[in-house]
Amino acid sequence: MRDFLKALPKAELHLHIEGTLEPELMMALAERNGVRLPYASVEEVRAAYDFSDLQSFLDLYFQGMSVLRTAQDFEDLAMDYFRRAADEGVVHVELHVDPQAHLARGVELATVMEGLGRARRRAERELDLSTAMILAFLRDRPAEEALDLLERAAPYWETLDAVGLDSAEVGNPPAKFAEAFRRASALGLARVAHAGEEGPPDYIREALDVLDVCRVDHGVRCLEDPTLVARLRDEAMVLTVCPLSNLRLRVVERLEDHPLPAMLEAGLNLTLNSDDPAYFGGGMLDNFLACRRAFGWSREVFLGLASNAIEAAFMSEARRAELRERLAACR
Ligand SMILES: [Zn+2]
Repeated sequence: MRDFLKALPKAELHLHIEGTLEPELMMALAERNGVRLPYASVEEVRAAYDFSDLQSFLDLYFQGMSVLRTAQDFEDLAMDYFRRAADEGVVHVELHVDPQAHLARGVELATVMEGLGRARRRAERELDLSTAMILAFLRDRPAEEALDLLERAAPYWETLDAVGLDSAEVGNPPAKFAEAFRRASALGLARVAHAGEEGPPDYIREALDVLDVCRVDHGVRCLEDPTLVARLRDEAMVLTVCPLSNLRLRVVERLEDHPLPAMLEAGLNLTLNSDDPAYFGGGMLDNFLACRRAFGWSREVFLGLASNAIEAAFMSEARRAELRERLAACR
């Protein structure tokens, strides 16, 4: 089964590029840039990855990215991840990027976008990995800042596929960002948003109604609301579920208790993703393997999930056709 899951062409729709920063690279970049970290070794960084909920994780996440200073750093960060992903049979990665977190510490948008852009072109060329980019707004920051970021990103609109909404969910409902998402829509950008991870089902409904999203990131709390589940099913709304992330952030205590099987049973359009793989105990393959162990899913189930991701991905139709063929070859 491991060989099958590794060979399965996996498209990753929910990944934060800053969340791919492994302790080894964090230490190397800290040294290269003369950034002082409160850790003396890779082991100490790993030990610090002992957060208990979304907020304690976010504190560590923002501290870790302090080592990212130059375009080269961002290129190295993304290439480091793309290589690992390609090794696990990932064929397409859609990266969320959080520019506000970098702007706030004096790193220019151009530095971030140029570094990531170079890595994306290299991934295509060197690894046969297609990529897409999602400009994410930090929802615990003011709405005007999101709008301002979108305008500042004008030189990069062409390279963006969507806008997204991430960071601390509770108390920051989707409607707060109605204007920024309207503007993104006017620019022809797709919209996605984190909703229903720690926040209530109403946030999912709001993301659909107010932000007009084409995908909901996480969405696991939809099960608390049968009317919402019926709507998500009828609209075939894509949910990007992140099992190991939910486990690590204590959305569930054991993976066996995860709502994924119930969501599958309800006929929802599900995909499996890694979210922040450096922090949550594994990449795409680990997430697939963990689901196999916890739920005993058959090949057929995994083929279905992989197919959902390929169909929902931001990619050219030529690439989609190619990946459909590769998926069919796994049957
Ligand atoms: Zn996420």
